Formats: sequence, C-alpha cells, structure tokens
Amino acid sequence: MNHYRKVVIFLILLISCYKDPRPIEILEIDNDKIERKALIIGVDGVRSEAISSSSTPFIYNTLSKKNVYFNLSSIVEEHTLSGPNWSSLLTGVHLNKHNVTDNSFNNHNLHQHPPFFKYIEDLTIQKNTVSIVNWQPINDNIISTHVDYSISNINDSNVFNTAKELLINLNPFNPDLVFIHFDELDAVGHQYGFSSLNIEYINQLNILDSYIEELYKLIEEKRSFGEDWIIFIVSDHGGDGTSHYDNNNPHINKTLFISEHPSITFKNNYINNMTDLPISIMTFLGLYNNNFYSNTDGNVIFFEED
Ligand SMILES: [Zn+2]
Repeated sequence: MNHYRKVVIFLILLISCYKDPRPIEILEIDNDKIERKALIIGVDGVRSEAISSSSTPFIYNTLSKKNVYFNLSSIVEEHTLSGPNWSSLLTGVHLNKHNVTDNSFNNHNLHQHPPFFKYIEDLTIQKNTVSIVNWQPINDNIISTHVDYSISNINDSNVFNTAKELLINLNPFNPDLVFIHFDELDAVGHQYGFSSLNIEYINQLNILDSYIEELYKLIEEKRSFGEDWIIFIVSDHGGDGTSHYDNNNPHINKTLFISEHPSITFKNNYINNMTDLPISIMTFLGLYNNNFYSNTDGNVIFFEED
C-alpha cells in the first residue's frame, strides 16, 4: 500500500512589478518520491536507423529485454538543429514558446520557459543537479545558471569520465539529477556522413554504446544499494549526407527517445515528442509546480502511480 502523499510546501505570490503581477506559484513535493533520481544521456545527431545489434549492442538489447519506453522515430522540432531541440527537450515546451530557432540562441524566450532544472532547484535545494556537456551552448544558454554543478566544452571521453566519477558510489557529491551530452557523433556525421553504411559513424556510435553501457552498470549498482533511478537516452536530430537541415527528410526529422526503469509502467503505445522529458522526470521525482505544468507541451510517458 502506497498512499499518495503530497505536501504543499508553500505558496509564493510572485509580483515582478505592480503592473504585471504573475500568477500564484503552487509548489508540491510528494514525500514518497523525493529520494528518486534521474540520469539523462543526450547524444547529438543520432540517426536511428544506425541502431543495431552490431553497432550498438547495449542499446539494442536494452530495447528488447529491459522494462523500457522507446521510440526510434521520435519527431523533432521543425528546425532540425541542436539549439531548438535541446531547448525543447530541456524546457518541455515547443519551439513556438522557447523561440530558439537556431544555434545562435538570438531572441530566445528561455527566461519565460526555463529548463526543468530551475523548477527542481526552486522546489528543493537538496537535489544535487549536474550538467556535463560537450557542446557548450547548451550550458551557456539553457542550463548552467540553474544547476549546482556544470562543466562544458569537454570532449566525449571527458564527458563520460566526469559522469562516471560522479556516479561512482560514495562520491560525496551524491548527484540526484544528471544531464550529460555527447557531441562527437554529430561531428563525425558532418565530416563523413550520417549513415549506417558509414564506418566512421558506426564506430562512433559503438564507442557511445559502450559509454552508455558502463554508465548503466553504475546506475544498476546504485539501484542495488536502494537508490531509485530512471534513465533517459535522447537525441536532438538525425542526419543525412553530411548535414541535418532538411526538415522533411525522415532520416533527419526523427531520432531516438528511450527511457528505462525497473518497475514503472511505460505507455508503450504512446508516441512521444521532444517536450515529454521534463514532465516525465518531474512526475517521477514527485515534484509539482503549477506554472511548469500549465505551460509544458509534454506528456508523461509512463502511467502515474496511484
Ligand atoms: Zn550538427
């Protein structure tokens, strides 16, 4: 028996200036879920067709054997670039709201639609939040002011090693929410071509698959010590030839979206979109903010517990 207990923590009347009073912000924490944790693995430029038993054995087996949600045809934003899509994945709103139309981030509206890390930090400062990214604009423009620890502009191997170090049991930082971003697959795609027929692209995917497998094993170890982690593996766009500009091309406008947890029930017939990640994580962590929930374009990808 697991009673759904929500504790209303506080109400804040936010008044930015007297001509523009903001709505009341209602914040709730579900104490049954507050210890839960999440790892989000972001891989730039995954053309899903390249996922296979030989190129990505770990991911491939995960899809068929574990308790997972997966969509290898996850539709991306109409601007098939990194800036718009990482913004949608991390804020939970579509491009028409966050207004990140390209990689310059000019005229963005991220102050009005911040990343979900902000809502989590506002709700509970005890959560240790981390963002480790290869492609620096993600941290500079979207995340870094809203997390406890961020590191940018490091190569994929350093992203992996930094994440690994943080996730090793007994690391004193004890992370609760970890976002990592690998960028070298996209770079290889631009140089040699995004294709399952391209050995450079496949080799790079294979390296990432082994990184992801190792991180997964660390999470499994944490689970064995009683920690309750959900994992996401997401990407921002696919690619064709050496680019990813044509938003009508299905090799470009679709990519992968995967989540794994040992016991929650995923909506396996549900077709996700890029904005489903934040609300799914907020719900998993038992955190509620009415302003976030009323603005998000996303849906929860699993059935909510009682
Ligand atoms: Zn690219």
